Amino acid sequence: MAEFLVKVYCPKCYTQINVKLSELHPGASIKCPKCGADVKFNKEDTKRVLEELGKIEDTIKTPEK
Ligand SMILES: [Zn+2]
Repeated sequence: MAEFLVKVYCPKCYTQINVKLSELHPGASIKCPKCGADVKFNKEDTKRVLEELGKIEDTIKTPEK
């Protein structure tokens, strides 16, 4: 299965960071490659991302009429 990359933004310097979906879960955090700030994922973030992915999967699965 292909690894989904999720775009998150550093709250400090607004650098765009690509995070693997498998690394994105509530309570996890990554370091911004630019300024070194901790970027934490909260429940709302992960929920939003999963909802977005759900929409994409629906689009793929739904046959065109
Ligand atoms: Zn940063």
